[in-house]
Amino acid sequence: MYPLVESTIAVFCDFDGTITRRDVGDAMIRNFGIFEPFHTDLLAGKMTVAEYYRKALQQAGPDFTPETIEKFTLEMEMDAYFPVFFDYCREHNIPLMILSDGFQEYIQPILLANNIDRAHVMANNLNFQKSGVEPIFPNASENCNCFCASCKRNSMLATAQTEACYVYIGDGLSDTCAASHADVIFAKGALAAFCNEHRIPHYTFHTFFDVLRIFKKIVMNNQIKHRRQAELLRKKSVEIE
Ligand SMILES: [Mg+2]
Ligand SMILES: [Zn+2]
Repeated sequence: MYPLVESTIAVFCDFDGTITRRDVGDAMIRNFGIFEPFHTDLLAGKMTVAEYYRKALQQAGPDFTPETIEKFTLEMEMDAYFPVFFDYCREHNIPLMILSDGFQEYIQPILLANNIDRAHVMANNLNFQKSGVEPIFPNASENCNCFCASCKRNSMLATAQTEACYVYIGDGLSDTCAASHADVIFAKGALAAFCNEHRIPHYTFHTFFDVLRIFKKIVMNNQIKHRRQAELLRKKSVEIE
């Protein structure tokens, strides 16, 4: 676990479809595992994300190794402005944590290939054994029924100071739980739709060019403030965990 971050602002960012342009996890499963019918079943609520990962990767063959994953995923494109955003946060001592319900085995090589070193990442792992590959979910929560194998909300709350302002950037269903508990939200895709549906204020974005432009402005103008509804939810989830 990372030490508690001492900062007034803490940034949390999804990986697949947010930092990368495509969903690398989906691409990896399509390439090495079995995507359908499991993915449709997952979206229909017939299984949890953890069950989906286990089933989809159950029959992955001997060509599924850390090396082949790395080789395959290095072709995945990163949002061209993410490294600029990453540097901005580092220069301003704003902690940035990548929260993913995907796997470290493809996240780390992609970050390194884009010259992003020493990034903090909380994600799932793949355990390669002779008998097959076992997905491991180190941050799973029994008390949260979010659309995650590892609960991003718990990861978020465990790594920043209670008084910090939480900024969340994401695009998908696995982000809704953490984003609901964040003060400032940048959303696109399914996360933006969720925020609209639940009347959660958020900034929409297409790329990190937008995120950086807005983020710089609200940091400089001291506009990053606590959101009452998020504070209440955070208090509540601390009590039940
Ligand atoms: Mg995503
Ligand atoms: Zn959760």
